[in-house]
Amino acid sequence: MIAPLLPTYARAPLSFVKGEGSWLIEADGRRFLDLGAGIAVNALGHANPQLVEVLTEQAQNLWHTSNLYNIPQQQALAEKLVEATFADTVFFTNSGTEACELAVKMARKYFYDKGQPERVEIITFSGSFHGRSSAGIAAAGSEKMTKGFGPLLPGFVHLQWADHDALEPAITDKTAAILIEPVQGEGGIVPLPDQCLKGLRDLCDEKGILLILDEVQCGVGRTGRLFAHEWAGIEPDIMMVAKGIGGGFPLGAVLATENAASGMTAGTHGSTYGGNPLGCAVGGKVMDIVSAPEFLAEVNRKAGLFRQKLEALVASHPDVFEAVRGTGLMLGIKCKATNADVVKAGYDHQVITVPAADNVIRILPPLTITDEEIAEAINRLDATAASLS
Ligand SMILES: *Cc1c(COP(=O)(O)O)cnc(C)c1O
Repeated sequence: MIAPLLPTYARAPLSFVKGEGSWLIEADGRRFLDLGAGIAVNALGHANPQLVEVLTEQAQNLWHTSNLYNIPQQQALAEKLVEATFADTVFFTNSGTEACELAVKMARKYFYDKGQPERVEIITFSGSFHGRSSAGIAAAGSEKMTKGFGPLLPGFVHLQWADHDALEPAITDKTAAILIEPVQGEGGIVPLPDQCLKGLRDLCDEKGILLILDEVQCGVGRTGRLFAHEWAGIEPDIMMVAKGIGGGFPLGAVLATENAASGMTAGTHGSTYGGNPLGCAVGGKVMDIVSAPEFLAEVNRKAGLFRQKLEALVASHPDVFEAVRGTGLMLGIKCKATNADVVKAGYDHQVITVPAADNVIRILPPLTITDEEIAEAINRLDATAASLS
């Protein structure tokens, strides 16, 4: 008999009733060190007092009005994002998937309005993840995500990650955009080298097509810059954001240049909940905290510390671990043992990691993790690995 909850997840036998900073707590009081942060969502830790304050204050005043009216919290957050990034304009969503939907629509409408309605194709890469909607799964294109769900939304051209030679011939007079994650998350923590991102930007400029970056997982301070593409010194035309921006409250956004967004006039897109006062109040506070240079400097310092300790950990368990990868606090360990077994053994040592493709475990702690917690994380991962040897 089917469970009351649609069984699309193989859930771990853990139930948390409380969160505190980098810790998740079960009803019996067992405390788990959370190196997953709800898949890079709880960027400022669980029940962050500053976020609790803005959320509860907003909850006492106004939850929802719809986008038929001005939403001051949304306006303020859009201004902050425009101020801090390449973008001239922002649309708010509730999730990364919805951000993907709009990014695809925006790119197509841009060329439609330019009198090039045949430019509908979006080039994507193996190992990518852009959400679970019809557009999201068609964009990723993997058999795992698409099998049985056809007919798929047409117009996506899938290239092999890092196949440089395939890129230029794939761009035709039907191409609208290239869509890529600066650091693949679900794909196994795979950073796109800075020079490749620069090369993609140049290629898009040369061919007159748009560059769409999916920073849903790698954005909002995760890599030590506010957005990951900043490391390469380039700017996209359109960017998808979600996960960390809401600090745990469902919030996403599409950021765009004035040029790329030019087709999105009144009536062309909408969302009932997108940019609601609760989400935008929290998002505004997240932006204030994460965009501060001192905060990002701390992320970089702690990332260096964590990485150094992980390298030593991996070296001391060559039968369980293979290599550290990633950037900032978006780290992964390529495993020799089966990654799912490592994640599961971690639960016995009260440490939470998240599996990804390519036999990787992801380490995506709250950006507020302390030095002591990093040391404790290493102790627990060390015990985890020892239990598997
Ligand atoms: C999680 C994720 C998405 C989808 O976001 P949801 O909020 O789950 O809809 C899209 N792209 C990337 C890179 C992601 O990590």
